[in-house]
Formats: sequence, C-alpha cells, structure tokens
Amino acid sequence: MTARKKYQKVNDDVVASLAEIVGSKNVLTGDDRENYSRDELFRAKPVIPEVVVKPEDAASVARILKLANAKNIPIVPRGSGTGLSGGAVPYYGGIVLSLEKMNKILEIDEDNFIATVEPGVTLAALYQAVEARGLYYPLYPGETSATIGGNVATNAGGMRAVKYGVTRQFVLGLEAVLPGGEIIHTGGKFIKCSTGYDLTQLLVGSEGTLAVVTKIMLKLIALPGKREILCIPFHNLHDAIRAVPAILKGGILPVGIEWMERDIISRVEQYTGKEIPLHGYEVFLMIIVEANSEDEFINISNLIGEICLKHGAADIFIPGSEKAKRNLLEAREKFGPAVHHCEEVLETADIVVPRGAIAEFIEKAREKASEYGMTVPAFGHAGDGNLHIFCAVKKGADASQEKAHELLIKIYELGISLGGTISGEHGLGFSKKVFFPLVADKHEIGLMKRVKQAFDPNNIMNPGKIFDL
Ligand SMILES: Cc1cc2nc3c(=O)[nH]c(=O)nc-3n(C[C@H](O)[C@H](O)[C@H](O)COP(=O)(O)OP(=O)(O)OC[C@H]3O[C@@H](n4cnc5c(N)ncnc54)[C@H](O)[C@@H]3O)c2cc1C
Repeated sequence: MTARKKYQKVNDDVVASLAEIVGSKNVLTGDDRENYSRDELFRAKPVIPEVVVKPEDAASVARILKLANAKNIPIVPRGSGTGLSGGAVPYYGGIVLSLEKMNKILEIDEDNFIATVEPGVTLAALYQAVEARGLYYPLYPGETSATIGGNVATNAGGMRAVKYGVTRQFVLGLEAVLPGGEIIHTGGKFIKCSTGYDLTQLLVGSEGTLAVVTKIMLKLIALPGKREILCIPFHNLHDAIRAVPAILKGGILPVGIEWMERDIISRVEQYTGKEIPLHGYEVFLMIIVEANSEDEFINISNLIGEICLKHGAADIFIPGSEKAKRNLLEAREKFGPAVHHCEEVLETADIVVPRGAIAEFIEKAREKASEYGMTVPAFGHAGDGNLHIFCAVKKGADASQEKAHELLIKIYELGISLGGTISGEHGLGFSKKVFFPLVADKHEIGLMKRVKQAFDPNNIMNPGKIFDL
C-alpha cells in the first residue's frame, strides 16, 4: 500500500451521500473550496479539495468516514488551517472534513477543573469561556484562531511550555472516530490511569492520520495572579543560554524563557517601525513569570536578576506598564513575519535541541550556513530548546532552493547529533516527512506504520502525512 495508491474520485453519488448526511449547505463543491486549499505552510502550493464537508456532530463524522472508507476516498481533517506543515492540505485529493461547525464548549466542570469541548472550538473561545469562570487553560500555542482539535492533532506547544508543557499534558480524554465509523472514548475525568495502552496520548500528535477527534477533555488550572515580563540583555549568546538552567536550578519556574538576538530585534524594528527597548545589546532573554502578589513578583525578579547578573547579564529591564508589556509580547509575535519581510527565506524549521545545547547549535548552524552563502536567522523558546530557524539570503540575492534544502538537512543532522529532533511543535505534516528518517530508524517508523495500518487499514486518513506508506 502506498500513499500514491489509486484512490477513488469524489463523484456526484458521493456528493449526494454527503449531502444526505450533513445537509447540502454543509457540502462545498464550488469556488468556496479554495479557502480549504492551503494552510500556513510557507511556499506551499494550494490544492483544491474535491469536496469540503462540515459535519455538526460525531455521528455525522462517523457516517462520512464509513462512506469514505467503503469508497476508498481520502479524508483530510481540518481545524482552522493555521498549521505550518501542510497537514490539512489534501495533497492526495478526496474530502476535506472541516470541524469548524463542531465548535461548542460542552461543559466547564468547575469541581474537577476540566473543559469538555468539540474540536472546532478555537483557542480564543476557550480562553474566554474558562477565564469567565475563574479558571485557566495555560497553554499559548501562538495562534489563537487555531482550533483545539488542531492543537491536539499537532501536539501544539508555544511560549509557556517551560512551566506548563505542551498540549499533550492537558488532554485527559478524547472521543474519536475511526475510519470504519466506530466511535471510541479514551481517558476521562481523572489524572491517574493504569488501564491498558494510552490511546489518548497516541492520538495526540497523530496529525489526523489515525482518527478524527470529535471531543476533547482538557485539564484546567486556577487563574494565576499576575504575569510579568523581564527583559534581560546579555553581551553574548553563551552567557544568555547558560543563565537558563541556572534560573531553573534557583528554584524558579518561569512560564516561558524566550531568546532573541540583535539581528532579529533589528528586523522587527525595520518591519514594525517601532523601537524595542535596550535594542543595542547582542542577546536578550525574555522571561515570563507568574506570581500571586506584587511581593512575590519582586522576590522572583530579584532572584532572576541576581542569577542573570552572575551569568554576565548587562541589565534587567521590567516593562513599567501594561502597554509596554503588550508591546514587547507583540514584538515577539512579529519575529517570524519580520524575518520573511526582511529576507529571502528559502526554508524554515522548528527544530528542538536540549536547552543547554542552543548556543552550540546556533554557532555551528551559522558556520554551516556561511559555507552555503546563506544566513540562518533564529529565535525561540530558550527554556525548552525549541528554535525557529530560517535558511535565508538577502532580498534579491541569487538563491538556490536545492542548496537551501541541503543546508536544512545539515541543520537537522546537527540538531539531532546534539540530542534534538526535527519538529518541536508544528508537526511533520506533508512538508517535513522527508526528513523523518534522519531522526527515526526503520524499526521506529515501521512500528508507526503498523500502528497506522491497525487504525486505518485502507490508508484513507490524511494519507501522505508524517510518512508515506
Ligand atoms: C502566526 C502563527 C503562529 C503560530 N504559533 C504556534 C506556536 O507558538 N506553537 C505551535 O505549536 N503552533 C503554532 N502555530 C501553528 C498552528 O497554529 C498549530 O499547528 C495549530 O495546532 C493548528 O491548528 P488548526 O486548527 O489551524 O489545525 P489545521 O492547520 O487545520 O490542522 C493541523 C493538523 O491537525 C489535523 N486536525 C485538525 N483537526 C483535527 C481533528 N479534529 N481530528 C484529527 N485531526 C485534526 C489536520 O489534519 C492537520 O494534520 C502557529 C501558526 C501561525 C499561523
């Protein structure tokens, strides 16, 4: 069986059957399919789905999957299409199954601190609903229009992973529909569970290749008191990176520790036209901390300040107003767009290395890049080792996509040799599957393929993503 195996086309009979299941208003066959032809994968070629279907409940999802399985038609689950690896794009044709109408928050259980939601609920809607009840979903995977289903399918991460981890740490249970139309329920409203294989965690991060997630139970926590930012300039990358484990050893658990260098800061300033405080220094750590009171915050910031100064920090900057804080966080969110604005970007990666290896990784990646006549602007999550790195040349300069691809392989090999892996949070999807064998051997990938076959013997679930069968 290969991902390129011959699938059936979606014909009029299939469209009629889909309309019978979800109503014709929820079946798109016209120009409006274009909105479902791409995600946010950089440089990706759009692919118009043969049909888009928008079920409103799990029973309809089950009937659609059963139909697709019987007719041998690919199914591509889709949340908001904010993914960065082509995961929701129907490269092998078939049905795009958009979960956008399954967007109800079904329950916020205030005693057990659990939200039960449909997959099409956006992060923004979840934040608003739980915070209105004095509860909190602490993960922040960057793009708040993304759906919870998409976050679960990609095991989304973001800026708060140092303290809270990633999506998988917050998923307690799932409802999911298998390609044969069976509906399964995994996990539940509990933390402890030693009852068979953990199917919940197997489905988290499976990128729509095993099943369609139709309900999610998410762990919540109490609202934190206040969140503050410390911006700490250093004279060099090594000192900044060495300060990170020292902060953690000091008994402080920041929400996030972001790292950025002068070249990125100046690109953001160029892109936004706004000056960033202390922009003359080589490197910054942006440390986000939570505290229950002003006194607690002062203690934490004094401790962080002391540790960083011992590790070569040049200064400690705490934005004095909510506006200054917001400006800094907004600037951080502009890093990616700013690099694209200022450079001819040829490749991008969200590699992860052990956090102590960040400086070595960056230095060696730069050496490699200069051998290829390219630059590798980078920034990222210093607290968890997840780096966003770009293979780029100056705007208008001669650029070879092939060379950039070669450089990217060297960069992945470098990260892997330091104990890292290919994708920290965006998933392999379509774009990174070719690199998967760099980090996983044939036994591991073979085992994953057998898991896939056990769930999806006809390979209709999001074929051609993660690996080809
Ligand atoms: C500006 C920007 C910033 C971002 N920042 C971050 C960040 O900080 N951290 C991070 O982790 N990501 C980040 N992302 C990436 C993106 O937001 C995440 O990957 C997100 O989880 C995708 O959600 P989505 O609803 O858009 O999913 P889609 O893009 O629609 O789909 C993503 C994958 O999930 C599958 N899928 C979707 N729903 C289901 C379902 N119900 N059942 C089974 N499979 C499903 C799809 O088939 C696809 O493989 C960012 C993206 C952008 C554009």
